[in-house]
Amino acid sequence: MLTCNKERLQDKITTFSKFGDTGKGGITRLSLSPAALEAREEFCKRCKALGMEIKTDDMANIYATIPGEEKLPAIIMGSHADSVKQGGNYDGILGVLTGLEVAETIVTEKIPHKHPITVVIWTNEEGARFEPAMMSSGVITGKFDKDVMLASKDTEGITFKEALEASGYMGKIENRMSPEKYRALVELHVEQGPVLEDEKIDIGVVEGVCGMINYEFTFTGQADHAGTTPMKYRKDALYAAVKTIQYLHDELDRLDSKLVYTTGKISAHPNIHTVIPDHVKFTLDARHQDPEVINKVLEIIKAIPKMVEKCETSYEKAWSRSTVRFYPEFVDYVEKNAKEFGYSTKRMYSGPGHDAQFITDIIPTTMIFVPSEKGHSHCEKEFTPLENCLKGANVLLQTILDIDKN
Ligand SMILES: [Zn+2]
Repeated sequence: MLTCNKERLQDKITTFSKFGDTGKGGITRLSLSPAALEAREEFCKRCKALGMEIKTDDMANIYATIPGEEKLPAIIMGSHADSVKQGGNYDGILGVLTGLEVAETIVTEKIPHKHPITVVIWTNEEGARFEPAMMSSGVITGKFDKDVMLASKDTEGITFKEALEASGYMGKIENRMSPEKYRALVELHVEQGPVLEDEKIDIGVVEGVCGMINYEFTFTGQADHAGTTPMKYRKDALYAAVKTIQYLHDELDRLDSKLVYTTGKISAHPNIHTVIPDHVKFTLDARHQDPEVINKVLEIIKAIPKMVEKCETSYEKAWSRSTVRFYPEFVDYVEKNAKEFGYSTKRMYSGPGHDAQFITDIIPTTMIFVPSEKGHSHCEKEFTPLENCLKGANVLLQTILDIDKN
């Protein structure tokens, strides 16, 4: 079976790890920052050398295309090239670089293909400089209002619009990805969790993206002196919150082993060591592929008992997303191709969000996961062995060729 080139892929990963290098094994390559622009320039340079045609759309997404033998909609692969602050060298960029390696293999090996083949770089997937995450795919698919996104500001007060205009990559709205122009999208990504490595699996066959809910809980008590207020008179909002977190863990652990939930944000007022907290908030993020399980989480939230009689408790939905299911035919291609290469596979749902989950609304889409060492991601320790990156690239290559044939 046709394969990609290991040395070339290594060169790509090494080269791109210089753009935004923190010197500690990772990168800080915030969207449209000088480091991100250097990465874009190198990407375009390499694509042009392969004879690819480069277009950008009004959100500065880059599309580099090898022409097909027939006038057909293109098959697209790729991901994002921006990172979080002190992030790793694999999240997002590996999808771009394996896409580029697949394109290079097709060009240099002169592999026949009917459809044009495109590699995409999405702008601002991380939302680390300009909120929200997955901004450009969200605008293209109508999830986000473009004018609201353009007004999003970074910590220095620069708007996304200003950064976009200064980047030199802002193109025409007609160049956006659309169902008429694109037949399929395949995004390769690192798993960003420990399961594949732990179970010694080469390729994660991604069936979809887990649905999730995010709730914010508020507890109101009374601020009083820590030295003079006997315990029985206290209205301690933090104690009520802690007991509620414990209650939620006990109840949610009973539901399903695939359910993940997190209290990642908590605030206590006035947050002074001599004052009983009077106002406490915390969040609960819960994710599962089965909407039934998410409904059960909601039932548990709605039935939370008052843990401290004298404190008021309320909760509010911050946001949610439904489970996304990828295009079954393409999911099958990924599994079949991995098996034909002799790679081990596991069908799974993504916990994190990806651009692919928005694009699947307009274009048949799937994803390929490769293992993340010890599950580390969004940090400098993020690592995927070259061997695994290559296996992912090989499956991507065959999957693109399968889609081209059928
Ligand atoms: Zn990513």
